[in-house]
Amino acid sequence: MRLSVVVPCFNEENGLAGLHARLNDVLPMVTHDFEIVMVDDGSSDQTLARMRELASEDPHVRYVALSRNFGKESAMLAGLSHADGDVVAIMDADLQHPPELLGQMIELLGKGYDQVVARRNRKGEKRLRALSSKAYYKMMNRLVDVRLRDGEGDYRVMTRRAVNALLSLGEYNRFSKGLFAWIGFDTAVIDYQNVQRCTGQTKWTFRKLLNYGIDGVVSFNNRPLRLAVYLGLIVTLLAFFYAGYVVVDVLASGVDAPGYATLMVGVSVLGGLQLLFLGIIGEYVGRIYYESKRRPHFLVKETSGTPHAASLRVS
Ligand code: UDP
Ligand code: MG
Repeated sequence: MRLSVVVPCFNEENGLAGLHARLNDVLPMVTHDFEIVMVDDGSSDQTLARMRELASEDPHVRYVALSRNFGKESAMLAGLSHADGDVVAIMDADLQHPPELLGQMIELLGKGYDQVVARRNRKGEKRLRALSSKAYYKMMNRLVDVRLRDGEGDYRVMTRRAVNALLSLGEYNRFSKGLFAWIGFDTAVIDYQNVQRCTGQTKWTFRKLLNYGIDGVVSFNNRPLRLAVYLGLIVTLLAFFYAGYVVVDVLASGVDAPGYATLMVGVSVLGGLQLLFLGIIGEYVGRIYYESKRRPHFLVKETSGTPHAASLRVS
């Protein structure tokens, strides 16, 4: 069995050596035929230089450098499409995904699973983030058609056929959590304790998280649009009844000018609803716009094997 470990890295210059050492402790116990595929996601620090060093010292290390920062989703995709193992693991560079679990995870693959995901608890995390994550997953599972679980991140191992299934999905907007679930196959879960980042800082800001959340909702279903239809129906129905009432009232007791409050409430509620759903429709239209350009998910600047520029699209 050949094992590939894919590691997306963005500004991880201080973490790479430690990660490499830990992997080299652990991986030989799992298999001797392994490769570490590091993806430099357009880092602005010395990450790529570190990768070049590691690759020249250790034949197990390969790297792919992207032409700019494409985001973790694209970096993972780049790594997956370059990995050639029968079993592929995805792991963060900051050692928040303990490599020691790999042996156990791969053992489970041997029992007939195609994906094994490591689920962390949220110990030591900021209260607010843990709470909002929980609420988010609750809402997501109401909305989307695939099942997502809190704490299941990108740390997982997959068989070749699961990887190929993932690579065959050509969409431009990639919400991995959803894609992993969407491809299906038998999936096993193992739990582990949350670990703090070894060096550097998290790349998630509140705004990024919020955008990521919206991506998740919009890329996996059209229920928000359905909601617009239902709400539209209800509001229209109410409006009809009210119109009837107003007409009857005017016929019965003549015109009396007051009504400013009702008018304002009606106008502003409707205005707000219309803007909201215009926005939702816009989200979907925007996605169609991006998908229709059929741009590559990432551009490769350099790899350890062929230091030439090359572009690649997964189709
Ligand atoms: N990462 C990446 N591209 C990005 C942002 C992050 O490849 O644009 C990598 C990062 O180097 C790390 C992993 O994705 O290996 C997870 O990032 P981070 O630790 O910031 O996320 P968190 O663990 O806080 O969710
Ligand atoms: Mg991290």
